[in-house]
Amino acid sequence: FLGKENMEKLEEKNIEPSDGSRILVFVRLRPMFKKERDAGMRCCVKIVNRKDVYLTEFANENDYLRLKRLRGRHFAFDASFPDSTSQQEVYSTTTAELVEAVLQGRNGSVFCYGATGAGKTYTMLGTVENPGVMVLAIKDLFTKIRQRSCDGNHVVHLSYLEVYNETVRDLLSPGRPLVLREDKQGIVAAGLTQYRAYSTDEVMALLQRGNQNRTTEPTRANETSSRSHAILQVVVEYRVRDASMNVVNRVGKLSLIDLAGSERALATDQRTLRSLEGANINRSLLALSSCINALVEGKKHIPYRNSKLTQLLKDSLGGACNTVMIANISPSNLSFGETQNTLHWADRAKEIRTKACDVNMGIQFPLESETDQARLLLELQKEN
Ligand code: ADP
Ligand code: MG
Repeated sequence: FLGKENMEKLEEKNIEPSDGSRILVFVRLRPMFKKERDAGMRCCVKIVNRKDVYLTEFANENDYLRLKRLRGRHFAFDASFPDSTSQQEVYSTTTAELVEAVLQGRNGSVFCYGATGAGKTYTMLGTVENPGVMVLAIKDLFTKIRQRSCDGNHVVHLSYLEVYNETVRDLLSPGRPLVLREDKQGIVAAGLTQYRAYSTDEVMALLQRGNQNRTTEPTRANETSSRSHAILQVVVEYRVRDASMNVVNRVGKLSLIDLAGSERALATDQRTLRSLEGANINRSLLALSSCINALVEGKKHIPYRNSKLTQLLKDSLGGACNTVMIANISPSNLSFGETQNTLHWADRAKEIRTKACDVNMGIQFPLESETDQARLLLELQKEN
């Protein structure tokens, strides 16, 4: 039913196998709500072979013109999740490998991108019954640490922060805005709470409370602002012995990012982009699109400094990091424009190459004392 033209497009757009340094891009379609169907909305997205996404319907003439202009009706990704996909499957396909890498002292990041209402927060945080990537990643992390039977050797710290209107805030202990500083490890938020986590049980409650601390729109007291970006950082620190038998610390960092709503913020052509810049819609998302463009075009200068978000994502986009993007889309034909925009940017993000990811050795957390070191050596000897 795809037709010759579509088959050709499919071949032309076929994705090359990952070389480990490409951003992996996934798409997740959320289910149509009953109230949307009752209101006469139609599904405008078809996912084929868990990979190819087709836009099948549109709402009006404008969408039709847009479709012709952007020539984007078909897209292919590393995987595309139909609306029946479970949270666990999304986690296993997109993030489980990054958790493994973080346990080896590497960095990884996952960001959810899409319009408001497309399912970003559901994918990242989820609900108590259906926890999302953030919670499943931490759960998996603790399971893997336990399996390595060296529990006491690993320390897990969580930080949860928000970027709203170019202000960075600590979601675990709200207070004054945080200042970004550049140090050896890259950009850090000075004074950010590092919560030491011992088990999964406490984490869901912690994150939900943190999410309630996200900025809300003044007119809708209970709804999280669609312009707020939330970033969860999971830092795993552990000790190993290097070739000369010295104890060294290894640190892996996983960043899980729930971006602000992309509607109107990322324009696909220069003219709209300029008018949006004037309107200061969402500086961080605009800066993100500029960085993606610059990275894709292989520019020397990548404008990370243009926003707080891009400063914080610098090592995820262009640094030594395994990066995953999940593009969330709504099925409704009324969201056609936003959906096509999201797919367009996700398609572009496939072209970004990140640097090879090294193991972070012996930085960040020095051993507290000599006695500590002696005790640790004993522990390590027992294990081997
Ligand atoms: P966003 O964060 O992108 O604005 P949400 O994650 O808040 O969107 O999703 C909007 C609504 O749709 C929420 O009520 C959420 O629970 C629901 N929802 C989103 N994705 C799914 C899904 N895959 N399955 C079930 N409900 C979903
Ligand atoms: Mg949200």
